[in-house]
Amino acid sequence: MTIWYNHVRTHIRLQALVDNYRLIRTRATDPAPVIKSDAYGHGLPEAAGALFAAGARTMAAGTVGEAAVLKDTVPEAEVISLLGPLDAEDYACVCERDIVAFVGSTEQLLLLEEAASHAGTTVRVALKFDTGMARLGFAPDEAAGVADTLDGLEHVRATMACSHLATADDPGQVEYVREQGDRFARILKTLHARGLDVRASLANSGAIFGHPDLHHDLQRPGIALYGGNPFHGTPWEEKGLGLKPTMQVSSRLMQIRTIPAGQSVSYGRTFTAPAEIRVGIVAVGYADNYSRGLSGKARMLLHGKRVPVLGRVCMQLTAVDLTGVPEAAAGDEIFMLGGEGPFAISADELAGWWGTITYEVFCLLGQNPREYV
Ligand code: PLP
Repeated sequence: MTIWYNHVRTHIRLQALVDNYRLIRTRATDPAPVIKSDAYGHGLPEAAGALFAAGARTMAAGTVGEAAVLKDTVPEAEVISLLGPLDAEDYACVCERDIVAFVGSTEQLLLLEEAASHAGTTVRVALKFDTGMARLGFAPDEAAGVADTLDGLEHVRATMACSHLATADDPGQVEYVREQGDRFARILKTLHARGLDVRASLANSGAIFGHPDLHHDLQRPGIALYGGNPFHGTPWEEKGLGLKPTMQVSSRLMQIRTIPAGQSVSYGRTFTAPAEIRVGIVAVGYADNYSRGLSGKARMLLHGKRVPVLGRVCMQLTAVDLTGVPEAAAGDEIFMLGGEGPFAISADELAGWWGTITYEVFCLLGQNPREYV
């Protein structure tokens, strides 16, 4: 018998993930699924296996450790580490496992040369340029210098040049996307003029659906794979339609009680019943990554009906108003995300109540025990 810490279950629909990948393939020439952060909470090995079976032959993990797990899962795939190597173990791992690491500094190139020479191998790298995120990467005007450095290295071969867009999901900031795109084009020109035969990659989900002119050779979809419309709530919403939800999260109703008018519910007494109501106590709380910020704001789905969260979300318990669901019984499954029917709770809605983005909803709720359907 398996003993679980909690009653929360994250249900992953791998078929929906595959359907989203297929939809993306109708828009992009060569999409490399981004399955970093445990596939945005969907489980890296499971997501990788399904996507490989669906035809994905290049995939991107985050850390080198994740890339190593990915390589073990799909040994025939080309595996990218978007974060690149940090310490000696990472450098050795990149060489041993044939991982294509993102590299954004000369120091990293030199350390990789040393590690690859030591391992008696040649490593492939993706040159990461910072065109406007101010995060990782070479500055655009370092392109010629990077080519010079590579000329002197025997064990490091650049096969890709990449950058990342800061505002591709925001139709109100198209100008900044253009600026980054232009900087990237100038970098590629310099690298090509120096004889570097690199595949170019710039587009994330927002650019795949919104900026086809910036697709280059290889695209890196993340959130769209997991059903997130990059343009939700913007005038471009239509461009990202057709993606399917991949994650549902449920728990169980522990107890039902009737409370009189004037009785407050949960810590801090932030909700007081205006009349006699039926209250359901759900086995979920902030310890299960159901944020305390959802207190008094969120809805859950029970028997296809929406029920409001009452008062504060506690560590492992949350109260809901069952007045509209007379058929509710202790033990019933109740959904925090998803559920069946027209009132299913979307990740975008949940993110709105939470005051965050769908990326964070998936990464956090995905940490509960997962079931694959
Ligand atoms: N490429 C890089 C370097 C990333 O960090 C990410 C995710 O943040 C992606 C691609 C995928 O982005 P998105 O999930 O917006 O498609």
